[in-house]
Amino acid sequence: MSTRTNDAPITLIAPGDAEYELLRSTYTTVGSPAVVALPRSPAEVAAALRTARERELPVAVRSGGHGLSGSGTNNGGLVIDLRALDRIDVLDRAAGLVRVEAGARWAEVARALAPHGLAISSGDHGNVGVGGLATGGGVGWLVRHYGLTIDRIRAVEIVLPDGSFVRADAGHEPDLFWLMRGAGAGAGIATAFEIEAAEIGQVGLVHLTTAVDPAGETLRQWEAAVAAAPRALSTAVTLTSRGPAATTAFITAVVASDDPDLVRDSVTPLLDIGRAQVHEARLVPYSAMVPLAHLHPNTGQMPSHTTNGLLTEMSPDAARSLVVAASGPRPALVQLRSLGGAVGDVDPEETAFAHRHQRTLVVASMFPPADRADLTAAWEPVAAHSDGAYVNFESAPDDLTRAQAYPGRTGTRVEQLLRRYDPDGVLSPGGTQDT
Ligand SMILES: Cc1cc2nc3c(=O)[nH]c(=O)nc-3n(C[C@H](O)[C@H](O)[C@H](O)COP(=O)(O)OP(=O)(O)OC[C@H]3O[C@@H](n4cnc5c(N)ncnc54)[C@H](O)[C@@H]3O)c2cc1C
Repeated sequence: MSTRTNDAPITLIAPGDAEYELLRSTYTTVGSPAVVALPRSPAEVAAALRTARERELPVAVRSGGHGLSGSGTNNGGLVIDLRALDRIDVLDRAAGLVRVEAGARWAEVARALAPHGLAISSGDHGNVGVGGLATGGGVGWLVRHYGLTIDRIRAVEIVLPDGSFVRADAGHEPDLFWLMRGAGAGAGIATAFEIEAAEIGQVGLVHLTTAVDPAGETLRQWEAAVAAAPRALSTAVTLTSRGPAATTAFITAVVASDDPDLVRDSVTPLLDIGRAQVHEARLVPYSAMVPLAHLHPNTGQMPSHTTNGLLTEMSPDAARSLVVAASGPRPALVQLRSLGGAVGDVDPEETAFAHRHQRTLVVASMFPPADRADLTAAWEPVAAHSDGAYVNFESAPDDLTRAQAYPGRTGTRVEQLLRRYDPDGVLSPGGTQDT
């Protein structure tokens, strides 16, 4: 069931307007849209879509502007920028149910929920927008404890490409609800999400470093230590290298608890990895993990080539390939995120994010002057071990990367539903980066 919205007047910013310079671009990509629409309600989102139709302009949707492919802007088209839709409300404190609008940033969400003793695991950066992350997945600092962000979404409010407004949940428009949790970009424009937050105030934060041997045995130890740890523990690892024999892992360990014993028990196995050194161990408010200090305007300041893959097992060959990718002649910045725990509690067919058995997300990035071919070359050894991919860490989406993100029956259902909800391809996700 859907209701038609009434068309409404809307703020439109064009080249020459004072605000244009700070609205034209995303984090990775400088854009030159013909017009940027700033809707303040679902009715105004519908009006923006109608304007695009009348002027025959291609549409880009933007929440936080942190999308890696630059699909949150375009050249010569109409950008629907949702920044004015940024309300954050606690609907039911006892149930932990909150409503967040798509244009809010995760730093703002964390700040708003902190006084209620609630938190939503989102990502590692506070400037990322709610809309892009919560329609794709959401691998956050508490992912093994909380699951993906999409796993706790209970309803989504959406303006469909035809301008109609829908509130989808498990009992109402279930196909759309399924699609919006993992493959939402391109189905409709999410204006708000109802999400079950977790009761979390402070978390344990530990920073460690350790040398990584060329064979990557250290990474196998890391994977095994996390798998054996309580699911309260989530970790992120960044590899930096000055050559195959000089690779270092920077490990950030976050424990979803303020119980010092649980924090200690969770991180202790990490101390046996290589020659681990602890640099910091303390309790911090969850909001400090995605702080307001992350907020910044997006001016295309961080062009990057980024790809990713999921690993089911850190086999000796896979571990070695990660060290090679991070330490070759044209090294990639390699980041590892632990999965498992609550991510695996969800049936692979329950959402459009099918990847529930993999243990590690690997993200590889290169920055100019490196080009996409350099990244492809560095990634090649890792690609052979990848078992699926996460749509939100891909700067050059194409048929191959979509097939990895949406495999098998999930992919078939995603394509069918995208055709149903957006038959004219008004919102079909593309990208201006890497093209
Ligand atoms: C520095 C950085 C750190 C990151 N860290 C993490 C992380 O820790 N974990 C993680 O899971 N991801 C992470 N990401 C990836 C992030 O999830 C995606 O880039 C996400 O798309 C950003 O959301 P956004 O709203 O800011 O993007 P935008 O650039 O605003 O949007 C990107 C695209 O998403 C779609 N979209 C956006 N809003 C909506 C909406 N309301 N309705 C429908 N479709 C929409 C559109 O296709 C849009 O073009 C990170 C990205 C960056 C750049």
